[in-house]
Amino acid sequence: LRGDMPAAGLAFGPDSRTTVYAVASGKGGVGKSTITANLAVALALQGKRVGVLDADVWGYSVPHLFGVRRAPVAIKGLMLPVEAHGVSLMSVGFFVTDEEPVVWRGPMLHKALQQFLGDVRWPDLDVLLIDLPPGTGDITMSLLELVPDAALLAVTTPQPAAQLVAERVGRMARNARMPVAGVIENMSTLVCDACHESTPLFGSGGGQRLADVIDAPLLGQVPLDVALREGGDLGVPAVLGSPATPSAQALSRIAGQL
Ligand code: ADP
Repeated sequence: LRGDMPAAGLAFGPDSRTTVYAVASGKGGVGKSTITANLAVALALQGKRVGVLDADVWGYSVPHLFGVRRAPVAIKGLMLPVEAHGVSLMSVGFFVTDEEPVVWRGPMLHKALQQFLGDVRWPDLDVLLIDLPPGTGDITMSLLELVPDAALLAVTTPQPAAQLVAERVGRMARNARMPVAGVIENMSTLVCDACHESTPLFGSGGGQRLADVIDAPLLGQVPLDVALREGGDLGVPAVLGSPATPSAQALSRIAGQL
């Protein structure tokens, strides 16, 4: 990323045929990035051309979730996305080391997002998933300005604490006249491997309540599943590495609705 790089016009203006989803959550740790990575790979497996823009600039995890860590090549001032598991990726994480904290302020973040949209030679994408930072901060606001056609995918756990803060994101989207594609409830239940009994570890109903409040469909519920966490740690999303597991099945069904 270079501060002096001119923004070369946005690749995803209103004329574009790319469907853009902004994946958002009220708070961190609800599985937003894990869900983004799995949806992207599930869509690619369905034959779509898919990109992921990791806009979670402080908590970027897309390189890790896809098991890639290399700086994108630049040709004539345009960066090429990094390809992994059939998905085109762009992330701040490709440009910094783990030891180096990202300390950018609002204007720099806005510029980075602008460059990720305009100065990246994205292939002709059917779907671009944008992994937003949690909450309603600068980046989310910048994104609404830069990609007015993006539709919101809100991720929450069933817990009221997560659902209530996610409502703020939903309201912000509505105020900005951003379409809301739907709600995904993650960590819905824990299924015991031994007895197959299901325990609502984080309570239940948060996804449906959020969907009702922001007047959007509940697209699906993803259970707590070791396979999903392991896939993230291995850099091979579960929909690819362990497609028969309950979480992978749920995510593939959700991808089928996008
Ligand atoms: P966020 O992007 O919302 O901060 P992450 O995607 O980084 O959240 O997920 C937080 C942690 O929870 C990660 O370690 C991830 O592997 C794990 N995780 C997310 N969803 C599930 C799930 N359904 N089952 C098991 N682990 C999960």
